[in-house]
Amino acid sequence: MSRGSTLLSTQIPDQRVTLISNTAPISTPTHGGRAKCLQRLVRLNLPVPRTVALSFDTVHKLASGALPDIAKIIRNFAPDTLLCVRPSSEDPDWGGPSAILNIGMNDARHLELCQDLGEEAATSAYLRFIQAYAVHVARLDPDMFDDLDEAAPSVLADALATYEQEAEEAFPQDPERQLSEVLRSMARAWEGTTARLLRQAKGAPVDAGLGLVVQAMVLGLGAGECGSGVLQLVSSETGLPQITGRYLSQSQGREALERGAASLFLERDPRGPSLEELAPEAFAELKAHAALMRRKLRTEMQIEFTIENGAVHILDGVRVRRTPRAAVRIAVSLAEDGIITPQEAVMRVEPRALSELLHRQVAEGAARDIIGHGVAASPGAATGRIVFSAADAQASAARNEPCILVRRETTPEDVRGMHAANAVLTERGGMTSHAAVIGRGLGLPCVVGAANMRFQLQRKTLMSSDGRAFREGDTITVDGTNGQVLSGSPDMVEAMLDDSFQTLLAWADAERDIGIRANADTPADAQTARNFAAQGIGLCRTEHMFFEADRLTVMREMIFADAAQDRRAALDLLLPMQRADFTELFSIMQGLPVCIRLFDPPLHEFLPTDRAGMRDLAEALDLPISDVTRRVEAMGEYNPMLGMRGVRLGVTVPEIYDMQARAIFEATIDASRDGDPVVPEVMIPLVSAKREVELVRARIDAVAAAVRHERGRDFTYRLGVMVETPRACLRADEIAQHAHFLSFGTNDLTQMTYGLSRDDAGRFMSDYVRLEVFPEDPFHVLDIDGVGELLRIGVERGRARHEGLTMSICGEHGGNPESIAFCRSVGFDYVSCSPFRVPVARLAAAQLAIRDKIG
Ligand code: PEP
Ligand code: MG
Repeated sequence: MSRGSTLLSTQIPDQRVTLISNTAPISTPTHGGRAKCLQRLVRLNLPVPRTVALSFDTVHKLASGALPDIAKIIRNFAPDTLLCVRPSSEDPDWGGPSAILNIGMNDARHLELCQDLGEEAATSAYLRFIQAYAVHVARLDPDMFDDLDEAAPSVLADALATYEQEAEEAFPQDPERQLSEVLRSMARAWEGTTARLLRQAKGAPVDAGLGLVVQAMVLGLGAGECGSGVLQLVSSETGLPQITGRYLSQSQGREALERGAASLFLERDPRGPSLEELAPEAFAELKAHAALMRRKLRTEMQIEFTIENGAVHILDGVRVRRTPRAAVRIAVSLAEDGIITPQEAVMRVEPRALSELLHRQVAEGAARDIIGHGVAASPGAATGRIVFSAADAQASAARNEPCILVRRETTPEDVRGMHAANAVLTERGGMTSHAAVIGRGLGLPCVVGAANMRFQLQRKTLMSSDGRAFREGDTITVDGTNGQVLSGSPDMVEAMLDDSFQTLLAWADAERDIGIRANADTPADAQTARNFAAQGIGLCRTEHMFFEADRLTVMREMIFADAAQDRRAALDLLLPMQRADFTELFSIMQGLPVCIRLFDPPLHEFLPTDRAGMRDLAEALDLPISDVTRRVEAMGEYNPMLGMRGVRLGVTVPEIYDMQARAIFEATIDASRDGDPVVPEVMIPLVSAKREVELVRARIDAVAAAVRHERGRDFTYRLGVMVETPRACLRADEIAQHAHFLSFGTNDLTQMTYGLSRDDAGRFMSDYVRLEVFPEDPFHVLDIDGVGELLRIGVERGRARHEGLTMSICGEHGGNPESIAFCRSVGFDYVSCSPFRVPVARLAAAQLAIRDKIG
């Protein structure tokens, strides 16, 4: 065995310890972002203190005891220079161990500094170092200095004695030993399991490396202005130009400075002295440096600086922390100033962050009294008084009182209550449950599946996860962005759709190569879809149109009709209402495609469920209540989602589809009269067999012919099939024969592929994801392996039979960036999602196209 291998710490060549200079071989993947940034600052001739960088490899070896040549590192600096060590990971968001300052402080240096800096400042610097070293290097209990009296003349001796007692050795006086221990402890901290898991959660790879930078401290010696601070040119909240930061001047008194309690204004301010007044030249210099960094480093940077005797030193530069709204503004203004290209601006904004801009949010830093949580089903936050029924929500809206609708789960009957509410909270449900889908469509904050709260609806009480009772009328806040339910009304920030937002999305559209439509059922949805520049409606769920009070009764008459002619009479009453719905949608969409799905839900969803409702219905139909109850019960199904719904109704009760087709075609003629010609798309839901399409198509063609004949006007329409059963994917070739387009309904398809109820999955989904049974909620992020395989088969088989077939997806996955990537890769023409997700989808699709272009 060689002698070297028996040593605890082995000396290794120091070529991986590099003085940061213009030409030094430093890169982010080998030395980390901070080291690279410091080199850029050096290249810009900015006044950066001397710094050396240790590579990832060096630090990794250091963790296992192989020290670089410490004496040689120290020889890079003037004798007796105090040093600091900071972490330099590849991505600053991955964190790293805390920086350690004032390395080199010892008894001798303290005596010298007492003369230069004054005893108070010198003692304070030494004390800070002892404390940091004790906690981060010697790993002693941070509480051990709690009893230290900082005002006592013996404070330093006390601290050194405490250290010695706890560490069982004297505080190290040798700067070489101090530095090597600091480096080793920082290297080891990075390799620890907790630190690794934390950074992996932020997207770091398992083997992410850590670099370290060792920098000369600037102590701020001298009679002129001395102090330290940070400065940036924009607000982190809004991204608007605004000089922001803080400055601590030694003239404020050492004590305030050390406590960090006092901070001067940067710019002139009537409330107190500012850096601009104390050191106008340094202030001007700092602003110029920040502007240069913006231009050359191509982003907004925060400068960490020290002023010594009026002279500026730049210790570090980090990307300005930014909220989503600031990120948009900063990216657009950099591109408008020609610093980055519009394409780069598009790549710099996280698509999901956009949805935060479209809704009010709980303000960053606001106090959150969390009383429960569930699935974050529709983003945004809203505060209101608790109501437990749709009728109470409407009453509350009529009084202009914001309310939160709390239900076990919502049904179509709750839709008007949802319109009236400011947010919705349900005990049951997942990402595609009724409340979630409608919530997203309306842009209404929504938390579903809050199973850790108790919903005592009879008692009109909501019990929080920690046992507190919230009653009707109590104020709560639903945060649909992160799934939290909060007590009271925390501070909010408003939604903001400013010019930068519109500009960024226009740039995104120029890059995008997959269409984006919206799922929209109402004129309000359609208007939102237009406002967000959707390229049409990809799914209009017509059943929601029948829940208006005046229609529901007619609908129920139709359902109760025994004879075809009675059914037709009721449908004749519904026809003009449907025609008006479609005419309005067509005119809002101004010639853009509108895809209307024929009636889909089981009919009994329209029937009352309680005694009072049965009585009302009996009155309206002039029938005995027992008759009504019996008929309602007879229509119940064991498994309605797999029962008499979708095309099965179209085949067995064809008059409903006949009426809808007529309404669509008559509206087509009416809307084409004064606007762009409309080419409606008619879609058949829940198909599983070719014959279903043949039967329905024959009747729709016949209705089209009749309308053409009656009105003496021609029009075209496109017929499509909604592919949402596994069988329809497998038999897509024969189904495609009869269709112009196939639209994949991945909500039902996911439900049927997994055999997983979309309305009940919320109860166990978080456990399933936590235990890694599923990587994600498959109703939220498309399951590429299983459901994706069926989509791929459907697309291939459909196109094999019919090359020009339009392919799309209209399940909730359409607005999810990962799912859009998959849809693009299998060749879909467009995705369709809730109107409020359209901007996210536009940006995500553009980023995918740009990534492909730049390879
Ligand atoms: C689907 O199943 O994916 C779909 C879009 O239809 P719905 O959610 O209305 O069932
Ligand atoms: Mg469906």
